[in-house]
Amino acid sequence: MKTVSDVDVAVVGAGPVGNALSILLAQLGHTVILLERYETPYGLPRAVHFDHEVGRILQACGIGHELRAISEPADLYEWRNGEGTTLLRFGQGGNGPSGWPASSMFNQPALEELLEQRAGSVGVETRRGFEVTTLAQHDDNVELRSAGGELVAAKFVVGCDGANSTVRTLSATPVTDLGFFYDWLIVDVILHEQRTFNPINLQICDPTRPTTAVSGGPGRRRWEFMRLPHESLDELNDVARAWELLAPWGVHAENAELERHAVYTFNARVADRWRDRRVFLAGDAAHLMPPFAGQGMCAGLRDAANLAWKLDHCLRGFAGTTLLESYQAERLPSARAAIDFSIELGKVICVPDPTEAAERDALMAVGVTDEPARAPGLPDLTSGFIHPSSPHAGRQILQGSIGGELVDEVVGNGWRLVAIGDDGEEVGATERTWFESLGGCVITLANPDEDFARWFAEHDTAYALQRPDFYLYGTATSGAQATALLADLCRDLMKGSTT
Ligand SMILES: Cc1cc2nc3c(=O)[nH]c(=O)nc-3n(C[C@H](O)[C@H](O)[C@H](O)COP(=O)(O)OP(=O)(O)OC[C@H]3O[C@@H](n4cnc5c(N)ncnc54)[C@H](O)[C@@H]3O)c2cc1C
Repeated sequence: MKTVSDVDVAVVGAGPVGNALSILLAQLGHTVILLERYETPYGLPRAVHFDHEVGRILQACGIGHELRAISEPADLYEWRNGEGTTLLRFGQGGNGPSGWPASSMFNQPALEELLEQRAGSVGVETRRGFEVTTLAQHDDNVELRSAGGELVAAKFVVGCDGANSTVRTLSATPVTDLGFFYDWLIVDVILHEQRTFNPINLQICDPTRPTTAVSGGPGRRRWEFMRLPHESLDELNDVARAWELLAPWGVHAENAELERHAVYTFNARVADRWRDRRVFLAGDAAHLMPPFAGQGMCAGLRDAANLAWKLDHCLRGFAGTTLLESYQAERLPSARAAIDFSIELGKVICVPDPTEAAERDALMAVGVTDEPARAPGLPDLTSGFIHPSSPHAGRQILQGSIGGELVDEVVGNGWRLVAIGDDGEEVGATERTWFESLGGCVITLANPDEDFARWFAEHDTAYALQRPDFYLYGTATSGAQATALLADLCRDLMKGSTT
């Protein structure tokens, strides 16, 4: 029996969330072991969409350049009825505030490959073939055992082990089912020749066959077909049936390869408790949603970004463990908003009844405008580890650039105090030294780019104190106020939480 006793964090599950969390922790110098039951990566596509904030999180994982090469921006997501009338248009061209396209399309296995390579290069020990079967919590560590009897001990364990999470079951965590179930046939296609699809992403709200037709990343397309009430799963989950459903789209065996077809039951669930002492849940283990908003993996990567710096600070003695209580408090409202939005979208599309569909169409078609609507944003933080009274605390700061390069590429990850103008020097020396020991960085933008200049003007502030996950701890209008903000941060970290 092999024992690894001095690991800081054991992450269970080498999906996108487990890999990203492991990378963020290993980049900060922690020993991380990533345990995965399967010998080889899951090779079939699932997620196809990520948003601008998630682009920034993945950039923080050190794969920004490679990610741009495997993804393509999507400026429009149009919903039409069976007759082709537009019911809804979402979209945004150009970059979102995080310095990435508002929406990007990609292939999940390609992303996981990038993440796994990056994990190896930053020192994460990935152990494939390790299926966690037991978990025992002690005062100062957690022990995990595999089916084969191997033992791993870690100061913290994070279950990123997907929808049927073993870690969740072993920590006796109840799950609330939000009662949304529909079966859909997912068909992934590699086109032999490049074709332009306009709009790039489309929902056909046709009661005779609700259908999704979206990009699956460069060179790939994804179709999703809802199972109709009279159809059996076996009738739908059939390769000949998949080709038959693709035929009206001009896709057939001569011009495309069927990468896979599979029926998924879309549902919506949330774990009631995301932390049990030294054990955490993240990603699908903590929350599950239908894919209509393209947010399941995105929510999991936001969990990883939130949890990584908090575990880091506790492991390095910069914060009390009560900081960890803010993890669920901060992440649940955002994940829940993504779930609720996905369910609302699902209710619009998953309508097999023609009368109900006609009523829906009449209501929706009148609201369509030429200018695509912006998808509703996720909520800012209103509690958790943010300054209790500072303006803009809990909002996100954009990613501008310095010298034409995105700022995170220039100054790296971690806490950041961004000052505009020449005032950066006014921050108190003691507070600044402490902040730098935390890994924080003070930058002064004497000649801010257009984005930063606009952001600071709109927010009527001169200093922005940004957490490692891009949320604002607070803002200040003078060097003296910024110094006080740093002092409050130090106090709050040692206290562990502001609420
Ligand atoms: C059809 C479809 C379309 C989707 N579209 C989108 C989209 O466009 N955008 C988006 O953001 N999301 C989308 N999603 C959701 C997204 O795919 C998931 O949210 C994401 O894969 C979850 O990542 P994860 O790392 O939490 O879990 P997973 O990717 O499920 O990884 C969990 C890992 O844990 C391992 N594991 C499980 N149990 C154990 C154990 N006991 N021991 C060791 N290892 C274990 C598993 O083998 C697996 O590798 C979609 C999902 C589907 C099905």
